[in-house]
Amino acid sequence: MIQPHWRLEQLETFITEEQIQQRVAELGAQISEDYRGKDLLLVAILKGSVVFLADLMRHITIPHSVDFMATSSYGAATRSAGIVRILKDLDIPILDRNVLIVEDIVDTGHTLNYLRRMLLSREPASLRVVTLLDKRARREVDVPLDYVGFEVPNAFVIGYGLDYAEFYRNLPYIAIPKEGFFDEPPEE
Ligand code: 5GP
Repeated sequence: MIQPHWRLEQLETFITEEQIQQRVAELGAQISEDYRGKDLLLVAILKGSVVFLADLMRHITIPHSVDFMATSSYGAATRSAGIVRILKDLDIPILDRNVLIVEDIVDTGHTLNYLRRMLLSREPASLRVVTLLDKRARREVDVPLDYVGFEVPNAFVIGYGLDYAEFYRNLPYIAIPKEGFFDEPPEE
């Protein structure tokens, strides 16, 4: 059996579950107000944004639908050139629809910049972005963010959908790993 990486004692809570829930409720209320009477489609970017999406959509009190995209970045060099691989495209056309991209975190901005350009070429009625976290200090390309949950410092964060090696997505809070978290486990 593969031993899962699970070191909760080496994590420092950065944004609590209560803080997240309160902010997500505020974002949902704002989005409901801004899109009232309009046809809204949420486009969530897998996998990191699924937890945020699940909470956010339950705070959106107007009719809306949901679709998913999955991306994968190449190595650092290609990534800084702004090239993103689409692993899963949308199931439905977005022509003339009001599209709201749901992101977990915007870091360098390359992923979102690529996605925005790609979706804009399909001529939606509007295209906006909601991100739970904004790691602004790391931005390399300027991308407009319409709704932001929290700004985070230049540190690797996990939890509430965000992973380390595919684990920790289920934490209900956002945490920053302490020193030693990334070390190899001692030999048995
Ligand atoms: P960008 O293209 O903006 O540099 O990268 C965005 C993607 O990188 C996010 O959607 C996320 O998957 C990943 N990412 C960026 N920063 C972090 C972080 O601090 N923690 C985790 N788990 N993923 C991150």
